[in-house]
Amino acid sequence: MLKQTTSVEHDFPPYQESALLALFGKNVRVLDLTHDFGDHIPIYPGHAKTALWWHLTHEESRARLGDTSFEGYGVKGIVTCDHTSTHVDAVFHFNKHRADLTVDKIPLNYMITPAAWIDVSFVPPRTHITLENVRTAVAAAGIAVQAGSTLLYYTGAETLWGDHKAFLSQYPGLNAEATAWILDQGVLNVCTDAPSTDNPADTTYPNHTVHAQRLVIHTELVANIPKIPRHDNFYYAMFPWRITGGTGSPVRAIALWEE
Ligand SMILES: [Zn+2]
Repeated sequence: MLKQTTSVEHDFPPYQESALLALFGKNVRVLDLTHDFGDHIPIYPGHAKTALWWHLTHEESRARLGDTSFEGYGVKGIVTCDHTSTHVDAVFHFNKHRADLTVDKIPLNYMITPAAWIDVSFVPPRTHITLENVRTAVAAAGIAVQAGSTLLYYTGAETLWGDHKAFLSQYPGLNAEATAWILDQGVLNVCTDAPSTDNPADTTYPNHTVHAQRLVIHTELVANIPKIPRHDNFYYAMFPWRITGGTGSPVRAIALWEE
C-alpha cells in the first residue's frame, strides 16, 4: 500500500477525447485529433518502426535507491521516427535546401490558428484529389479558405486504421494544381487523416513538391476530423517536439471551438 501524507486521493478522471474548458471566460470544447503512439500502430512504408521498452521498472529504480520507503519510479525508453503517428512535416523534410526550416523552427503562431475542414472522402483511393474536387468540397462545407488558417481535409483513410496494409495504401492525395490553389489562399498548414498528403500511386509526390516550393508545412495522420461539428469557426492547435534539426515531429493536435 502507498503511504500518503494525506488520505485524500486526487480523483483522476479517465481519458476522454473531448472536454469542455473554461477559457478566457468562454465555454470552449476541445477535441483530441491525435492517434495513439506506440509499437502497434501503422508505419509509413520504409520509415523506422517504434520500439518502446522498460528502461527502468519501479522495482528496479527502487533497488538502486536502497533503504527507502519510496516505492520507486518507472521510466520507458523509446526509439522512433520523426514521422510517426499524428505528425507535422517540417519544410526541411521535403526541401533539402532549407536546413533553416527544421521542425524546431516552426513559429508558435503557425501551431495555433483559425481552421476549417472539408470532406473529400468521395475521391477514390490511389487517385489524385483535383482542384475541382477541392472546390466541390469547399462549396459543400460552405466555407472560405482563409489566409493564416489551417485547412484540414478528410479522405476517409482513418476508417482503415486497424488494417495496416489497407490504411497505408488506400487513400488519395492532392495533385499539384489543387495544392497550389490551397496554398494560394495563404494557408499555413494543411492537415489530412491519410498517411500522406500525396497519392501513394504517384511517386513524383506532387503535393510535397509544391509544399517544398512554397515553404509550407503539412500534418499527416490527423484523427477525428469528421467529429468536428462545424466546418469553420474553430481553432486548430498542435504541439510538435522541439527536435533540433528534426524533419518532422509527432504532435498533439486538437480542435477548439466556443460552445
Ligand atoms: Zn511526414
